[in-house]
Amino acid sequence: MATAFIGVGSNIGDRETFLNLALGLLKQDPSIKVEKTSPVYETDPVSGIPQGKYLNAVWQVSTDLTPERLLDVLRGIEKALGRERKERFSPRTIDLDILFYDQFIYSSERLTVPHPRLHERFFVLRPLADLSPDLLHPMIRRSVKDLLGEVERKLGVQAL
Ligand code: ATP
Ligand code: MG
Ligand code: MG
Repeated sequence: MATAFIGVGSNIGDRETFLNLALGLLKQDPSIKVEKTSPVYETDPVSGIPQGKYLNAVWQVSTDLTPERLLDVLRGIEKALGRERKERFSPRTIDLDILFYDQFIYSSERLTVPHPRLHERFFVLRPLADLSPDLLHPMIRRSVKDLLGEVERKLGVQAL
């Protein structure tokens, strides 16, 4: 069994419902067990395209699916929830990204693991740090907590 972390985001319509529906569909898959879910955060969109705020979370799963098959499942759920693929970074009902898959380093035409932008994203690192602060990024060799600290310093955010 592998442990994977899935980054989730929604910024159209009833965002909380989309998150819950996606989680429900994921739980229905017999090859996937949802182990932990992070708190949900509301975050500002990072792209230049004007759009509403996001709800973001991270889910930890165990699975015997390969990374490619896990991606197929996630894309199936995105499709079921009405995700339209327009331009990159455009608003979406649901986005499901594979952040980590064990300590695998893998890249194909359709999948890169670890997710290539996770280490610079507050909206990913914040919920990830709630689940697994000491998890090491297999390429950067730094912990999630550490990477979050760096992103927060750049943003001028400080934990109380
Ligand atoms: P970003 O990847 O910067 O978060 P996005 O999630 O909005 O952007 P999508 O439109 O959801 O981008 O996905 C574009 C393509 O990225 C997908 O078709 C998928 O094949 C590919 N992809 C590559 N690596 C991953 C990954 N780790 N998780 C999910 N999709 C990935
Ligand atoms: Mg994404
Ligand atoms: Mg995506």
